[in-house]
Amino acid sequence: MTPTSSTPQRTLSSTIGWDAKLATVAGKHAPKIEKAFGYRTVGDLLQHYPRRWVDKGSLSDLGAIEPDEFVTVIARVVSATQHTYGDRRRGGVAYRLEVVVATEDNQITLTFFDKQKRVADWRQSQVARGRTGLFSGKVGTFRGRLQLTNPQTQMFGGEDDAAAEWDKIPQLITIYPATAAVQSWQLADAISLALDLVHEVPETLPEEVRREHGFVSARQALEGLHRPDSWAEKGAAEKRLRFDEAFVTQTVLAQRRRELLALDARPRTGRDGGLLDRFDERLPFTLTAGQQEVSRAVLDDLAVGHPMHRLLQGEVGSGKTVVALRAMLRVVDSGGQAALLAPTEVLAQQHHRSVTAMLGELGQGGMLGGAGDATQVALLTGSLGAAARREAMLDAASGSAGIVIGTHALLEEKVQFADLGLVVVDEQHRFGVEQRAALTAKSGGTPPHVLVMTATPIPRTVAMTVFGDLETSTLAELPAGRAPIQTNVVPFAEAPAWLDRAFARVREEVANGHQVYVVCPRIGGDDATPTRSGDAGGDDDTRPTAAVEEVAPELAAGALRGLRVEALHGRLAADRKDAVMRAFGAGDVDVLVSTTVIEVGVDVANATMMVVLDADRFGVSQLHQLRGRVGRGGLPGLCLLVTAAPAGSPARQRLDAVAATTDGFELSRVDLAQRREGDVLGVSQSGRRSSLRLLHVLEHEDVILEAREVAVGIVERDPDLEDHPALAEQVRRLHDAEQADYLDKA
Ligand code: ADP
Ligand code: MG
Repeated sequence: MTPTSSTPQRTLSSTIGWDAKLATVAGKHAPKIEKAFGYRTVGDLLQHYPRRWVDKGSLSDLGAIEPDEFVTVIARVVSATQHTYGDRRRGGVAYRLEVVVATEDNQITLTFFDKQKRVADWRQSQVARGRTGLFSGKVGTFRGRLQLTNPQTQMFGGEDDAAAEWDKIPQLITIYPATAAVQSWQLADAISLALDLVHEVPETLPEEVRREHGFVSARQALEGLHRPDSWAEKGAAEKRLRFDEAFVTQTVLAQRRRELLALDARPRTGRDGGLLDRFDERLPFTLTAGQQEVSRAVLDDLAVGHPMHRLLQGEVGSGKTVVALRAMLRVVDSGGQAALLAPTEVLAQQHHRSVTAMLGELGQGGMLGGAGDATQVALLTGSLGAAARREAMLDAASGSAGIVIGTHALLEEKVQFADLGLVVVDEQHRFGVEQRAALTAKSGGTPPHVLVMTATPIPRTVAMTVFGDLETSTLAELPAGRAPIQTNVVPFAEAPAWLDRAFARVREEVANGHQVYVVCPRIGGDDATPTRSGDAGGDDDTRPTAAVEEVAPELAAGALRGLRVEALHGRLAADRKDAVMRAFGAGDVDVLVSTTVIEVGVDVANATMMVVLDADRFGVSQLHQLRGRVGRGGLPGLCLLVTAAPAGSPARQRLDAVAATTDGFELSRVDLAQRREGDVLGVSQSGRRSSLRLLHVLEHEDVILEAREVAVGIVERDPDLEDHPALAEQVRRLHDAEQADYLDKA
C-alpha cells in the first residue's frame, strides 16, 4: 500500500484510466454516489478528499458538532440496553436498542428501532460493550443529549476473528464527507480499489518544479491522502495537493493577465481645461493623499493602450466615488463615454443624484444653464417607463450622454453606446470575463477600461485569488471630518427593557434634529421564510424575523408615535422608492424603516443612528456596511444591533465582533473565517464542489505566492499550455466551472 514511485502500476492484471466510469470501482454504489456528489469518473472519486483522519485505536474528537449535521464518528460502546415497547399500529411489541458510545471528548446515544426480535438480538450482539465501530448518521438531540437515530454502523472486528479483522484496518482511518445514502466506508472501499487499479494519475506539475519544491508526485499525493501509513505521509500529500489548487487558479489568472495585455484599448488622455480640470476647481474639498495617489494610478492606466482592470477598495465613505468620477470625466474629455453600474436601483438613483449634484453645470449639457462643453448624465434602470427608457438609450447610443448610470439593465443587448471607454462597477464582487465581453460588444469591439469599486475590504490573498487578474488600489484613510461610530449589542431576550430604551434613544436623536434608520431582515407579506445571511441563533428559533411592512406601522403607532416614519424596500415601485429616498435625503422623514436596500452607498449626512433588528440574520461584513450609513456628516454615529441570540452563541459572537471594532479588514477576516472558502469564490452557492478544498486563502498566503510565481513562469514560456496537457485540462475544468456558475447566476 506504500507508494514508492510515480511509476504507473502496470503490473496489475487489469488497470483502468483516470476517466473510467465510476461503476468500475464503486459497482452498485455508483448511482447513489453520483446522485450525492455528482461524480461520474474514477478521477472524480479520487478527488473526494477525506474530512478527517483518525488514528487506529483512538476515538473521534467530536469538537463542536451541531444538531442536524451529518457525522461519521469512531466510538467505543459503553453500554447497550434493549427495551421493548408496544407497537400500537401493528399490535405486538417492537424493540428499541439504546447504545451509549464514547468518543474522545463526549458521549452519544445511538437509538436503533427494530420490529423483529431476531434482528434486535443480532444487533445487540454486534454492539457488545467495549467494541469500537464507525457510526454514521444525522445528529439530533433528545433530552439535551446528542443522539443518532438508526445510524449506519460498521463494527471493527467480527466476534470470532476480531484480532485478524483489526489488523486489516489501516493505521490511519479516513473519514469521508458522507450522506445518509452513502457511508464513509463505502467511499473508502471504492477509493481504495480505484487507487489499486488506476494506472495513470494526471501530473499537473512539471518534474523540475516538483523537485525544486520537494513535492511528492500526484499519485503519491493521492495515496498519501486516501490511505496514509503515517501522519507525515498525509502531511506531504496535503502540501502537494494544496499547492496544486493554488497553482491551477494562479495559472488561469496569469493567462488572463496575458490576454488583457494582448488586447488593445483606446488610450484616454483627456485634455487641458476640460471637464476634469473644471470639476477639480469646483470640488468643495481637497482630495486626500490616498485619493490623489489612486487617481493618478487610474488616470495613468487610462492613458495606456491596454484595457485597465483595476479594483478600488476602501471603506464606506472613503471617497471612492470621487475617484471614479474623475476617471469618468477624463474619458469624456477624450471623446468617450463612461458607464457606472450599480448593484441595485436605489443605488443607481442615488449615484445619479450625487453625480449630477457634484457636476452641477458641467453635467447639464444641452440644457439651459449648462456649461459650454458640458456633458449629460443619463439614468437607465429596469423600471424606467418606456419613454424615459427610450430617451436614455438614445442618449447612450448617440453619445450625447457622456456618463450613463444604471443597474445591470445596462448590460442588456439592446443598450448601445457611441464610444464606451470606461465601465465603473460599484459594489460587485465578481465582474467576470463574460460581463466584460458583453461590454466590449457594446463599444464597437474595443474593450473598455474597467474599474471595480468595493467597500468590503478584501484581504490580500483573497484579492489575489478571487480578483487575481485585477490591479488593486486601496483608500486607507477616511476623509477628514468623519466621526466615529459607536456600536452596541441589544440582547432583548436577556433584557427586554433595553429595546424600549433603544427606541427612546431614537426619539432623542430625532428631537436633536437628526434622522434614523431601522433595518429589518425581511420585507413582510409572503416572504415568511426568514432571510438568513449566516448561521442564526438557534435552530429552535422559529419566531418570524422583523419585517419592514409590520415594523413600520407598529413603530409609527407605538414607540415612535408622532414621528415621520416611512418604509423602504425592494418590492416598492421604483418611483415610490425614489420618492421615499428623496424625502429622507431632504430631511422630510425622521425614521426610515427598510431592508438592506440601504446597505451600500446611500448617503444622508444627517442620519446619525441605526437600529438593526434581528441583527444576527446579517453577515459581519453586511453589518459593517450597513452601519457605514451613519456618522457620515461629521456627527458621531450610533448603531444598535438588536438580537435574540443568546450570549455565547456563534451568532452573538459575530455581533460582539462587529461591536468591538470598526476595522473593516479585521471584520472581513472574521467573516471569511466563518464561511467556506467556496463561498468566497462564489462557487459553492450553486451546489457545485468548490475547486479549493485544501487551500485556505486566508491561511496559505505563502503557498499562493509561491504558486503564482511558478504559474507566471510557465505561462510566459508556454502561454497555451501545449507542453502541459494535464495542467491545461485542469485549467479548462476551472473555466467550465466558472462558466456554469456564471450561467447559474444570470
Ligand atoms: P465611498 O464611495 O467610498 O463610500 P464617497 O465617494 O461616496 O465614498 O464619499 C463619501 C462622502 O465623502 C461624499 O459625500 C463625498 O463628497 C465626501 N468626500 C469624498 N472625498 C472627500 C474629501 N477628500 N474630503 C471631504 N469629503 C470628501
Ligand atoms: Mg460609494
